Amino acid sequence: MRMLIIEDERELAEAIADGLAAEGFVADAAHDGTDGLWRALHEPYDVIVLDIMLPGLSGYEVLKQLRAAKVWTPVLMLTAKDGEYDEADALDLGADDYLSKPFSYVVLVAHLRALLRRGAPARPAVLVAAVLVADDLALDPACRRCRRGNRDIDLTAREFTLLEYLLRHPDEVISKTDILTHVWDENFDGDTNIVEVYVGYLRRKIDAPFDRLTIETVRGAGYRLRSGAR
Ligand code: CA
Repeated sequence: MRMLIIEDERELAEAIADGLAAEGFVADAAHDGTDGLWRALHEPYDVIVLDIMLPGLSGYEVLKQLRAAKVWTPVLMLTAKDGEYDEADALDLGADDYLSKPFSYVVLVAHLRALLRRGAPARPAVLVAAVLVADDLALDPACRRCRRGNRDIDLTAREFTLLEYLLRHPDEVISKTDILTHVWDENFDGDTNIVEVYVGYLRRKIDAPFDRLTIETVRGAGYRLRSGAR
């Protein structure tokens, strides 16, 4: 899952990004409101963490312009207890959730997972379920657990994120470039062959031992995760 952190306290932004990378998120950071808004409008993010007091544009202004542009990416606002704004303002303006500073990292991750589960309006119903399922394959993002039938499957953080992304877009053709954007970070400058390599790793774990083909290759287009039994 790809997320954007708009936070001018660089150390805090970096600490959040590093911690979330270990949780399988891909996190980009922007350090002022103007840059943050530009990225949020032009890049596909699954969730945005937005501070209120920012140089350039305030978090409120960023949120207002984002919603005015009909970008419905879930937004979690960071509010300061002693700030001039409060949580009610954040929700009034179209934030999906808020956290007061200082917050614990564990609470932040729990809030982000809940937001991702809820998703933006008009997304497929499969997002409502906490556990992502395709036939007898099940992935639980909160518990970091993957099972096929009654067998547990061990995945690396990257394999997990890749499978989670595919499971959130079942039966759609997903290009390698899409996968690269959502599963690797923007500083990754390698080519899309890395996607093939990781799809190969995944197939060896979730498909080959069970004699299945969950992740199909769509020649010249990308991949498609089949949600039904075959
Ligand atoms: Ca700030």
